[in-house]
Amino acid sequence: ERIITSSMKREDVDIETSLRPKSLNEYLGQEKVKEKLNIFIEAAKSRNEQLDHVLLYGPPGLGKTTLSTIIASEMGVNIRITSGPAIERAGDLAAILTNLNENDVLFIDEIHRINRSVEEVLYPALEDFCLDIIIGKGPSARSIRLDLPKFTLIGATTRAGMLTSPLRDRFGVICKLDLYNNDELSKIVMRSADILGVGIDKKGALEIARRSRGTPRIANRLLKRVRDYAQVKGDGVITLDIADDALKLLEIDNLGLDYVDKKLILTIIEKFQGGPVGLDTLSAATGEDRNTIEDVYEPYLIQLGFINRGPRGRIATKLAYDHFNISYDK
Ligand code: ADP
Repeated sequence: ERIITSSMKREDVDIETSLRPKSLNEYLGQEKVKEKLNIFIEAAKSRNEQLDHVLLYGPPGLGKTTLSTIIASEMGVNIRITSGPAIERAGDLAAILTNLNENDVLFIDEIHRINRSVEEVLYPALEDFCLDIIIGKGPSARSIRLDLPKFTLIGATTRAGMLTSPLRDRFGVICKLDLYNNDELSKIVMRSADILGVGIDKKGALEIARRSRGTPRIANRLLKRVRDYAQVKGDGVITLDIADDALKLLEIDNLGLDYVDKKLILTIIEKFQGGPVGLDTLSAATGEDRNTIEDVYEPYLIQLGFINRGPRGRIATKLAYDHFNISYDK
């Protein structure tokens, strides 16, 4: 199993709760998003109103759930967390909505996976804070309108483009979360190490950061593994050498790439002469899921400058050839 997957693993559950920042100040990076949200939160609070509906999008593990809990706590309201696939029927959504308190936050993760009939119930709820419920069947069926408390929906998705446009249009605030840079990730690693009570120096933190694919969830997971290594092989303190040895043992290269990334890039280079190659073709040639390539692997490979996304498909760059020691003769 991939250790550098950005999706949640069972081993993350306990640690994520303890490492999760509780306020906007503790939430490192994503400066533009924080600035924007800060203004909207202040404004809504001063008017004593609920915050406008917020859509957060970006790859998994970047802090969408964390940010939502922070928004709720900054607003001084409760948050109810659920996910698109978990809301199976319109009735499930109605039950959740009618149980909210005034100004509460409802967080729906993977909102692009919500089913169509549920989505239709959501529209009037978002726009007019009401539910239209049909009672009975056939000629005696009638529709009643139920008022809901005013609430804030925070939707999270890996790609905004996967939402239907009527749903996307109902969000007043749309924020894109970007991959973190090494400096931000180092700070996140230092903060987490502090909470876990592990000694770490700056170079050790930077080494973990550099191999975390721009993703806090991965950084925290690697920190945990390196901590174990430091305890057994060193004196418990994470230094550059300890971090480097531990991560080598985990077969994560110096840029945080593993065998899946390698397979993707080598396929483009060796089977498609460096590209361009379409996503579906790449997916078929590697056996990796198309959406996973697009949402999880590719953003980091693009950030590294190893892949370019052109109109005719994906192209491997000279940097990628260099990294894998393949001569680039184009
Ligand atoms: P997502 O919902 O986008 O998949 P999460 O909100 O679950 O991501 O974040 C995963 C973990 O990464 C959190 O438990 C938290 O410890 C850490 N994390 C995410 N963003 C930040 C941040 N900006 N600062 C510090 N830690 C963060």
